[in-house]
Amino acid sequence: MSPSVAPATDNRSETADDLLLPVPDDDGAPFWDFAARGELRVQTCSDCAEPRFPPRPCCPHCQSFDSHWQRMSGRGRIWSYVVAHPPLLPAYAAQAPYNAIIVELAEAPRIRLVGNLVASAGARLDSVDPARLRIGAPVKVAFHTTPGGVTVPRWLLERP
Ligand SMILES: [Zn+2]
Repeated sequence: MSPSVAPATDNRSETADDLLLPVPDDDGAPFWDFAARGELRVQTCSDCAEPRFPPRPCCPHCQSFDSHWQRMSGRGRIWSYVVAHPPLLPAYAAQAPYNAIIVELAEAPRIRLVGNLVASAGARLDSVDPARLRIGAPVKVAFHTTPGGVTVPRWLLERP
């Protein structure tokens, strides 16, 4: 690639390990900024106090445009999961089979975040034996800064 060519600006980025990264939009940027500080925060209505995800300008419960970012404990439970097998993008195939889990947050069970259950924050996606996955298993958040410089929440079993 010519050095004069600007990098692509589509909504998916690739890192040194070729895993796809989020590219925050205006509404979601605070979520990623807090993650970079090691904080899991959820956008919450400042009028009716309902948390909401994904982030968006207007409260779906009371239509207020006032919101703040409420800090979560980072604890939750596995609400659902899948185990991915090839065919996958090459970087993912190299770590398959791996899990993708949906976590319901302890303080806001209606807020469900998608992520990976791993043995430690920076571990490979296949670092937890799929046989250990259980609906309802308690998990806690851990933050991993990718080679691309984006900090993403990941999940660890409370009882490894
Ligand atoms: Zn509201």
